[in-house]
Amino acid sequence: MAKISIDIISGDLTPEKVYFGIDLGTTNSLIAYVKDGKPHCIADFGKEVIVPSIIHFDKSGAIQVGDEAKTFLLTDPQNTIFSVKRLLGKSYKDIQNDLSHFSYKIIDNGENELVKIQIGERFYSPIELSALILKELKKRAEHRLKVPVQDVVITVPAYFNDSQRQATKDAGKLAGLNVLRIISEPTAAAIAYGLGLNNQHEKQNIVVYDLGGGTFDITVLTLEEGVFDILATNGDTYLGGDDMDIAIVKFWLQQHQIPENYLNQNKPFAQQIRLLAEKAKKHLTNHPNFEDSIHFNHQNIKLTLELSTFNNLIQSIVERTLNCCKAALKDSGLSYKDIDKVILVGGSTRVPLVKQKIEEFFGIKPLDNIDPDQIVALGAALQADAFLGKSEVYLADITPLSLGIETVGGLMDVIIPRNTKIPTRAGRLYTTSIDGQVNLKIAVYQGERELVKENRKLGEFILKGIPAMPAGLPKIDIQFFIDSDGILKVTAKELRSGVEQTIEIQPSFGLTDEEVEKRLLDSIQHAQEDIETRLLLEVKEEAKQILYTTDKFLRNYSQFLTSEEISGTQKLIHHLSEVVNTEQKDVIQKAIEALNNFSKPFAQRVMDAAIHQALTGKNIQEDFR
Ligand code: ADP
Ligand code: MG
Repeated sequence: MAKISIDIISGDLTPEKVYFGIDLGTTNSLIAYVKDGKPHCIADFGKEVIVPSIIHFDKSGAIQVGDEAKTFLLTDPQNTIFSVKRLLGKSYKDIQNDLSHFSYKIIDNGENELVKIQIGERFYSPIELSALILKELKKRAEHRLKVPVQDVVITVPAYFNDSQRQATKDAGKLAGLNVLRIISEPTAAAIAYGLGLNNQHEKQNIVVYDLGGGTFDITVLTLEEGVFDILATNGDTYLGGDDMDIAIVKFWLQQHQIPENYLNQNKPFAQQIRLLAEKAKKHLTNHPNFEDSIHFNHQNIKLTLELSTFNNLIQSIVERTLNCCKAALKDSGLSYKDIDKVILVGGSTRVPLVKQKIEEFFGIKPLDNIDPDQIVALGAALQADAFLGKSEVYLADITPLSLGIETVGGLMDVIIPRNTKIPTRAGRLYTTSIDGQVNLKIAVYQGERELVKENRKLGEFILKGIPAMPAGLPKIDIQFFIDSDGILKVTAKELRSGVEQTIEIQPSFGLTDEEVEKRLLDSIQHAQEDIETRLLLEVKEEAKQILYTTDKFLRNYSQFLTSEEISGTQKLIHHLSEVVNTEQKDVIQKAIEALNNFSKPFAQRVMDAAIHQALTGKNIQEDFR
């Protein structure tokens, strides 16, 4: 593993204010800062810059984080927490298919409740556990630099949704940090390469290929005028360097005719061979073969691995990442020829075969001169430094999915479209559909489909105390505000009365990473069908409104109408109410037009008469204006 060289850290005592960047990873976490314009990862004295994202709870109640904790992974699995990032902002339902991945106890208390982890007698939330990792990073940096670590930028995967970003932010708060901003990992990687400086005006298409310990993420982004737009994300939440280690272990077991279940019987052996496999994998980055030994059945057995054998073992893993690349490119609407830069992120991109296959796939040499373990933290540090006004990085993040509210008929009314740069604010005026309506339910959804039931509900609230008015008269201003961390606030205000209500959306359960992908794909696949449904629902809604108002019109103003006008209108009302429940959009539309055309000439006359009467003492029905 890369040790940070001492000269980087020389002159540690920094009197000036420093902001920090943190890569809170699934496997490993790092903290970095900018010194003399250059970002550096921070290693505590005698330690590595990389801190394994692992927490061990000792019987005595002591908590270890990092390498010390890693040594307990197989020997004390119930009390050793890894991959906590996978649980952030998730409910038990979200992760029930992945349970076999976790060796510690995850509590099932209600499908939509956020998960908790049981250790001994205590229960921890993923937020608390992430906070322990952040605290460790803070402690190490403070010890090393002798300055307080307070203001930080933390990175998250590009596909993290509101609740996962909020959970990350809360973990920061809990660790005593002031989270300046949450940014996406691929964006941080691009920043580390100096992309996104204000002086760059040419449009660039960038691919970030991130193969970590347990996850693979591919992101296609464009950079224009210093603003990053994420065009597509794809990946596999259970694919990474760990799978390479497992492939090596299986190979060795087979070679020495050791049954696989021996690993379950002898945990220390399992731990040891796993670590040797990782050592072999890393060794093969710059050597043609590897050799070591392990104690088995009272004797030492030799473990060897040649690079060519290793390449065969991991062939299918690499192929799987390339399939994700294909899918991401397709979603982004770009061809591999349009890609200007490919950036390598994650420890596993050091593997020579991985590099070679990426180069073959994109037809350009990927950028690999920044350490792939450190790059995300380095980019985050640059972004943090920009908050001090020192560097020129300008950054805009985007919303991964559209946000909107449910309107009559169960339709999704998008207020902030997907891929909008944040922070952002947008709003629209709405009204009521029923006379005398005093409460209005505002349900907030996320997704690309035309019907809310196909999208994901983020939350709802009721605007209460609207003064009773005829339908259509209240003016309800609904405002969406997304802050720079991607957290949504929704406000509803009835403008005539000033009644107001606000919610901050902290959805109680998250989307799985695949689900965001799936939602985007679904919306593309169902686009045609969705539009048809939407048009039909809109026509039906219009028909219902017209039936309602015309019926009321007849009841209130019959004294101004001739009997032919009344019977003609009734006939057309009857026809419209018959066809409104069919699925025939055009027939409904025609019936609406017929009714409108018939009533138009006398409607105006009646209104004039009614207003005349109102001016001479009677009240006018305001909703007919
Ligand atoms: P994450 O982003 O999931 O926290 P990292 O980016 O830190 O993960 O990557 C960790 C993975 O990188 C581990 O599987 C580790 O074994 C692997 N790795 C680190 N160095 C090398 C190397 N030289 N060759 C191959 N794999 C490596
Ligand atoms: Mg990572």
